[in-house]
Amino acid sequence: MIETLFSLRNRPQLLNLLITDYWLLVTDYWPLATNHSPMKVSPSDYHLDFKNKRALVTGAGKGIGREIAVQLHGFNAQVVAVSRTESDLKALKDEIGCETIIAELAGPAEAKRAAEQAGDIDLLVNNAAIAILQPFLKTTVDAWDATMAVNLRAIVIISQVIAARMIARGVPGSIVNVSSMARFQALRDHAAYCASKAGLDQLTAVMAVELSEHGIRVNSVNPTVVLTEMGKRAWSDPAKGGPMLARIPLGRFAECEDIASVVCFLLSDAANMLNGLALPIDGGFHTT
Ligand code: NDP
Repeated sequence: MIETLFSLRNRPQLLNLLITDYWLLVTDYWPLATNHSPMKVSPSDYHLDFKNKRALVTGAGKGIGREIAVQLHGFNAQVVAVSRTESDLKALKDEIGCETIIAELAGPAEAKRAAEQAGDIDLLVNNAAIAILQPFLKTTVDAWDATMAVNLRAIVIISQVIAARMIARGVPGSIVNVSSMARFQALRDHAAYCASKAGLDQLTAVMAVELSEHGIRVNSVNPTVVLTEMGKRAWSDPAKGGPMLARIPLGRFAECEDIASVVCFLLSDAANMLNGLALPIDGGFHTT
């Protein structure tokens, strides 16, 4: 039972349990805090349930984005998955019955088309990104431009379309940008990638400032290494991955599920006062 409860596939149920238990603890042992709260809240308010919410996830074909789509589906969201490899999207659709949009987000017209095709969206996860590893002195203009096109420009374009529709509909929304610990750490061979993620976090902050008045929250998450296809390319060599792993107090790299559960929390009303964050998901790496 315990094993089943804690198995990664049960993350949506586990997250709900943890949020509910945390809230019961707070209301039992800290009554003054609840008296001063501006809102009347109950544990049921914190049950993650995205019923009747449409969620757009970019880069949902593989890795972290795919797991975010799966967990959002587990929390009853209607998922719209964007990626560029048709077979990946077909496999995801077969698994969770989501809508799919094939798009190469490096092109501004394609990014706009994908966002418009997604229709009315309540929850947006800007996850798609690329990492082209080159030493600083060998970083090419092409690699730099390609990185900025996907990791930054596409996010601006997609978020503009989606946020404008939220505002026109008069509904609140939540946006999570998947950034990286590379925003805080100077990683060798990652000049363009680090710069793109640092830029993304500042973009997140400005979006949060400007969109808050419309009831739209915007946050970044900054994961440590996850051994997806992207992560393996950079970190599977023990000479590179070993020192990184040694600095993580929890003693392991993150799993896609570790990132997806935090993204779902940030998207939810349980995170209603979280806005403009760059949130490390790193097992304590930032403390070492
Ligand atoms: P993967 O490379 O495993 O998956 C990325 C997904 O995004 C794929 O489905 C890919 O499609 C899609 N994608 C990439 N570029 C485009 C594009 N131009 N247009 C449309 N779709 C695109 O990456 P991860 O899952 O590892 O990374 C997800 C996010 O997490 C990224 O933002 C990354 O920067 C961030 N991150 C990752 C870490 C890691 O260690 N893995 C650590 C910290 C942050 P296709 O396969 O068809 O190219």
